[in-house]
Amino acid sequence: MKWTIEVGRYDRTAGDGRGEVRSYPPPYENAPQRRYQTFEVDLPDHAMVLDALIAIREYQDESLVVRCACRSAICGSCGMWINGAARLACITKLREVARDGKVTVEAPPSMPVVRDLVWDMTPFWQKNRAVLPWLENKEPVPQGEEYRVPNAAMENLIQEVSCISCGVCVMDCESFAVNPDFLGPAALAKAYRYVADPRDAKTHERLGRYSQPNGVWDCTHCYECVAKCPKGVAPMEQILKIRKLAVEAGYRNNSGTRHAVAFAESVAHSGRLNELTLMPKSFGLFNIRAQLQSLPAAFNMLRAGKLPPLLHPKVPHVERIKAIFKKVGGMFSS
Ligand code: SF4
Ligand code: SF4
Repeated sequence: MKWTIEVGRYDRTAGDGRGEVRSYPPPYENAPQRRYQTFEVDLPDHAMVLDALIAIREYQDESLVVRCACRSAICGSCGMWINGAARLACITKLREVARDGKVTVEAPPSMPVVRDLVWDMTPFWQKNRAVLPWLENKEPVPQGEEYRVPNAAMENLIQEVSCISCGVCVMDCESFAVNPDFLGPAALAKAYRYVADPRDAKTHERLGRYSQPNGVWDCTHCYECVAKCPKGVAPMEQILKIRKLAVEAGYRNNSGTRHAVAFAESVAHSGRLNELTLMPKSFGLFNIRAQLQSLPAAFNMLRAGKLPPLLHPKVPHVERIKAIFKKVGGMFSS
C-alpha cells in the first residue's frame, strides 16, 4: 500500500530551497521554521508511522534523523507531532491518521529541536528534577529489611508509575505552550507519585513546593495530557489530587487557591460567576502589581465587548445552589 509521508525537517538551514518552508501560528510563532519534504513509501495496511520513517531513512534518505529504540511504547523515544498532535510514532498506525493516504510528521513546535524529528529533552528533565523525584526516608530507616507498606498503598500508584517519560503530554500542554516555566503534566504526575507514597517523609514540604507559581495551580484543565498520554497516566487527574491535598494541608495563600475559593464563593452567593471580583480576589486585593498587570486583559475584554456587567443580579432559586454548596462542603466551605 502506498503512503505519502510529509516530514518537517530542521537542520538550521531551513529556507535553503530544499522543500517548502512553513512557520507556526501563535503560540508557536517563535519555533524554528521547518522545511517540509515529501516521501512515498510502500508499506502494509497495519504499518506504524515509525515503520514509514525507518523505511525512509533506510532506503531513501539516510540523513533523516529520528529517535527510536524499542518500537513498543516502552522507551518513550519517538514522541513527535503527527498531523499536528503529539503521539508516539511506534504505536500510531498509518491508516488511523492518514488523510487521503498522507501523514505529516515533525518535531513538536513547543520544544527546542536538535535536528529533524529529534527534540531536545533538556527542559523535560529539568522539570522532572525540579519536583524532587526521589523518596526522602522516613526515620528510623529499617535496618536489614525493607520498608513495609500495604499492597493497597502501592496499587494506588500504578497509574503514575506507568509513565515512560516520553514527553508527549508536555508537547501539547496548553499551559506549557504559553509559559515554559510551568512544571508541566509529566513532572507533576511524578510529583503525585511521591506525595502519595507512604514511605516518603516530606509530603508536607512537597505540597508547599508544588503549590508555588508554575506549579499545580497553573494547569488550565485543557485535558490535552489526559487525551494524549499513551500510558493512561492522566496527569491532570494527578494534578487535581495534589491541589486537593495541598489545600487540606493548609497551603491556601496562593493565587490558585484564592481563585478557586473566589469562584466558588461567587457562585454560592449569587448563582453566577462574578468575573469583576474574581481577578482582584485571586491575586489579593493589595497586590497592586498583579492588579496592574491584569489591566491589559481588562482593556482587551472591554474592547471586545466582553467586560462583565457591573450589576450582578442573583439567579432565580439561588437558595438551591446554596444548598448544594452546603451539602458538598469540603475545601470551599470555610
Ligand atoms: S490539563 Fe493542565 S497539565 Fe494537562 S495539558 Fe492541560 S494545562 Fe497542561
Ligand atoms: S505522563 Fe504519559 S505522556 Fe506524559 S511523559 Fe509520562 S507516559 Fe509520556
